[in-house]
Amino acid sequence: MSASAAAITRAKRGRRPNVLEAPLTTYELTPTPLTQPFWDAARAGKLLVQQCNACAKKFFRPEIACPHCRSRDWEWVESNGRGKLYSFSVMHRAPSPAFKAPFIFAAVEMDEGWTLFSNLIGLEIEDAAIGMPLEVCFHKLSDDLTVPLFRPAAP
Ligand SMILES: [Zn+2]
Repeated sequence: MSASAAAITRAKRGRRPNVLEAPLTTYELTPTPLTQPFWDAARAGKLLVQQCNACAKKFFRPEIACPHCRSRDWEWVESNGRGKLYSFSVMHRAPSPAFKAPFIFAAVEMDEGWTLFSNLIGLEIEDAAIGMPLEVCFHKLSDDLTVPLFRPAAP
């Protein structure tokens, strides 16, 4: 069933939509020298990823050496922020008081060939589907911390 068909079915049943919002409500994070550029960029609404200058592959999470060829010659580059839902879990119990449950923990396969874990927002749980196109969005938690999240991509 498509997302729109599911929405119509719910509307006929008279149920109000329950669109997921950012689950994380507060978080203390101390960036390391390695991760500082990533978090600075997120605060500015940009998603960065490391790209290896030796083998040209992108990789995430942040590493001091390329996990593909072990080269330490890499740089941060801006991602286009687009990918697909590779896999997900619906978390019905918050792992800490900082989270609002339920929420979706998602593995996102980026169009540029790298993968990251994030949360999926802007849809109802039952509309999440493996392979659905996603785009990054940013959730400001504090003046210091903005986290990249994902939502269904605009067509
Ligand atoms: Zn490499």
